[in-house]
Amino acid sequence: MFVDSHCHLAFPELAGDIDGVLARMAAARVGRALSVCTRLDEFEGIHTLAARDERIFASVGVHPDATGTEEPTVERLVALAARPRVIAIGETGLDYYRLPEPLEWQRDRFRVHIRAAREAGKPLIIHTRSASADTLRIMREERAGEAGGVMHCFTESLEVAQAAIDMGFFISFSGIVTFKNARELQAVARALPLDRLLIETDAPYLAPVPFRGRINEPALVLYVAHKLAELHETSVETIEARTNDSFMRCFNRLSA
Ligand SMILES: [Zn+2]
Ligand SMILES: [Zn+2]
Repeated sequence: MFVDSHCHLAFPELAGDIDGVLARMAAARVGRALSVCTRLDEFEGIHTLAARDERIFASVGVHPDATGTEEPTVERLVALAARPRVIAIGETGLDYYRLPEPLEWQRDRFRVHIRAAREAGKPLIIHTRSASADTLRIMREERAGEAGGVMHCFTESLEVAQAAIDMGFFISFSGIVTFKNARELQAVARALPLDRLLIETDAPYLAPVPFRGRINEPALVLYVAHKLAELHETSVETIEARTNDSFMRCFNRLSA
């Protein structure tokens, strides 16, 4: 069984065909998926699906790129994180690629999520793009390591990955690692220890090779697993077992 550690089942590309998405997951032996929240007004829909289908888990958080939406407080995140099936806080983090400075509000929002994760005792899902130095700095300042979690859709350097691992984080690779022009990222994936790796789709975006440009979905996570198997010169069954185990450790679900 494979696990998609990060997808967006509430996005319209997937939300209109959830039964199809779940059926294709089953056919591909993708047994679990974490449906990640990007705005608080998305949360109830995500939570409802997770409550009705045991293969789906939920997170709660507000994406660093989300604007014109309810700003989360520590109290609100902690309260929603206490609901059943909510296994993580996020996605949160910093993204200096999409939006221009001043982004103090984005850094403040990131700090709120880290404080909520520590208080709730739930791991973080961290998004970082063109902002790795500030991401690591704020993680240290706010003691994100006490919550742990994952650096998702990882596209940064080996040094950044190692710094996150040193804080107890896992590193998750998406379909980007299958792209032909992703040689540097493939080298990072190859260099990291198998017991810290997760796989994800970030669906509906970033469909892996050979589906680039199409709508992505959790069933396609096995293409990421195949790429990691190739890079680590091991079997896909090994990647399947190791990333499944890492998912359980990362999200404190050893008994699930
Ligand atoms: Zn993200
Ligand atoms: Zn995402």
